[in-house]
Amino acid sequence: MGGPRHLPVRIHVPHRCRGGSATSGVRRKFRWLVRRRLGIVRATMRDNRQMMQANTIAFSPLRRWLAALALLVAAGQAAAQAVTGPLVLLQDRQAAWVEFPVSARCDFRVFTLDDPMRVVVDFAGLDWPEAPPPDPGPGAVAALRYGLFSPEWSRLVLDLARPMRVAEAAFAAEGQTIRFGLRLEATDEAAFRAHAGAPRDALWSLAPAGPGLSLPLPRSRRQPGEPLTIVIDPGHGGIDPGTMRGPLMEKTIVLKAARILADTLRATGRYRVILTRERDIFVPLSERVRIARAARADALISLHVNSEATGQAQGVSVYTLSEKASDATARRLAELENRADVLAGLDLEGEGTALARVLVDLAQRETNARSRRLAEAVVATLAGADRLIGSNPHRSAGFWISRAPDVPSLLIEMGFLTHPRDRARLASDAWLRELARDLTAALDAWAADDLARRGLTLR
Ligand SMILES: [Zn+2]
Repeated sequence: MGGPRHLPVRIHVPHRCRGGSATSGVRRKFRWLVRRRLGIVRATMRDNRQMMQANTIAFSPLRRWLAALALLVAAGQAAAQAVTGPLVLLQDRQAAWVEFPVSARCDFRVFTLDDPMRVVVDFAGLDWPEAPPPDPGPGAVAALRYGLFSPEWSRLVLDLARPMRVAEAAFAAEGQTIRFGLRLEATDEAAFRAHAGAPRDALWSLAPAGPGLSLPLPRSRRQPGEPLTIVIDPGHGGIDPGTMRGPLMEKTIVLKAARILADTLRATGRYRVILTRERDIFVPLSERVRIARAARADALISLHVNSEATGQAQGVSVYTLSEKASDATARRLAELENRADVLAGLDLEGEGTALARVLVDLAQRETNARSRRLAEAVVATLAGADRLIGSNPHRSAGFWISRAPDVPSLLIEMGFLTHPRDRARLASDAWLRELARDLTAALDAWAADDLARRGLTLR
């Protein structure tokens, strides 16, 4: 929806009250601002509440269907509603106020999630600027993110440092300007827990995910000379930016790299390529795996960018699935990459059972062996050109994305945003094209070997 816009993000964080006159001044100003905003917001709260109830609760099936249709039509238009200015966050430990201007009102819903504590606001057809989410500083809100969650709606997620309740949430007009405002107040853990949970209603649900992990295993029908199907998975996207440094975001770099790799593979005529996302949008990890399985993919390659605290680490590393991590770094990385769904505000209740089913699947063993051979082919192709990470370039851990029991899967960390050399490489189209050519060569070598082995095992 609409082209990317780069808007400044302005953040005001009042210091905690320490009794000094300057600090109290900031705090007084903060209180005054919140009161002034609330006066405006309260006037329109009732209208909004009625609108929300009408749209998400009280609709008859027919009207619900009509509303869904209207949403789709709205999404098809160029940027029906958009965030038009900087997001402002005012906060301390007891209260927080978030506001931003929009071009027009839209339907929205607010809810809280536990483990970890989050506040989630969903907006129908609201377009967000392509700018990194700001660092909120100390206070009740530890971090915030925004972006597309599905083609029809976008999402704002606030990570909470302590239990907070939603006191107010509404659009309000002030002269020509329409703003969305959200006020949070401190609450206790028990009250937070009692109210946490994602509402279930059809209008706001993700598109049905299809049969997913319960699919019968795809059988490879590939004959020698037939094109291979490769699913390329640009990590993160939409609400989940991945790792960041300054204006650089993992989600943007990996999408560009995925497009370049797709073009390079297609140009050979030997590969059919599917991307798990074609634009800046959130896709749940389970959906990415489902796409690969539904396509009966010969391989799934997930592209990522790493970061590391000391700033020393550099180079490409390759990861495959194992129940026991090869080392502590690989385990921490898997935890980080597996957090994508939590960061995006997904309620993961029930996902654990699907995971358990996959892990016991015997098919996983053969697939893991094929994944490892693919990883070794990639490492062999990249070796010797000062591109791989210094030690142990092929590692393993419990990556969600590699858990299709029947699709050989690889997660490639293309470099570290925290290292200047890697940053320059990741920003260079020429370097990404070179990487794509080498990955293509690695896939060629692996596919030939894989087909030969397959012939042996089938006999
Ligand atoms: Zn990542």
